Amino acid sequence: MNNEKGLKKVLAVLGAFALLGLSGCGQEQTTETDSSVQETTELTSEVATEETTEAATEEHLDYENQDEWVFESGEMQSPINIETGAAEAMIEDGSLALDYAEEVVDVIDNGHSIEMEDGGKATIAGRSFELTQFHLHSPSEHTLDGEYFPLELHFVHKAQDGRLAVIAVFFKEGTANAAFQAILDDVKANEETTAASGLSLNVAELLPTNKSYYHYLGSLTTPPLTENVEWYVMANPVEVSAEQIAAFNEYYEGNNRDVQPLGERSVLKYEE
Ligand SMILES: [Zn+2]
Repeated sequence: MNNEKGLKKVLAVLGAFALLGLSGCGQEQTTETDSSVQETTELTSEVATEETTEAATEEHLDYENQDEWVFESGEMQSPINIETGAAEAMIEDGSLALDYAEEVVDVIDNGHSIEMEDGGKATIAGRSFELTQFHLHSPSEHTLDGEYFPLELHFVHKAQDGRLAVIAVFFKEGTANAAFQAILDDVKANEETTAASGLSLNVAELLPTNKSYYHYLGSLTTPPLTENVEWYVMANPVEVSAEQIAAFNEYYEGNNRDVQPLGERSVLKYEE
């Protein structure tokens, strides 16, 4: 660090430290300056815009002590409430092409949900993902304009580079759903056996015909709550019967994470 650069940095923070900054770049002074940066940032953060805070942080990065850099997370969590009227129309073509295997590898009770290990492909907005599994939450995790649905299904996908994408489907009370019944029957049959189920079902029945969706960037809804998960929440629910909802709730009811703040994020809407 040269003196001119050091002076600029210190002046930008607090005039009182300018003289100290001129006299050198000792470890102790760096620490003092850093703490004053933090205080200043904290004091102004309530009124400062995000850009201002980021700029101030970048200007005072201490590359000698990178392990002290603050790692911020938790601003992009899921689930969220979706204000449907506030969603922005998606500019790019976000069309979905789903080709899920009808032969489910296994149906397992993982301790917090019923999970179907399944394969298949999803092309989301022109990018390729592999289906890894799908599972259910009761009641729903996401809400639409504050409204909960009895169930929410999550199709979890992974891209070649490791990126995760989840397609969420709300289930509402209506007519019975054959594919959902096959899952419930399989879970019941497997209560007495641990054999792999090899269940065959028409996965397409678990998805709405019209695949319009709400899209935002969020997280996993169970630990480790990993962020940068792409969410595609189907706008149209699928019908299941009241008896089927009750049957699922015998296994899991209340396995939904609380709604998280949207913060600065945008919710996009893709209309099929
Ligand atoms: Zn889930």
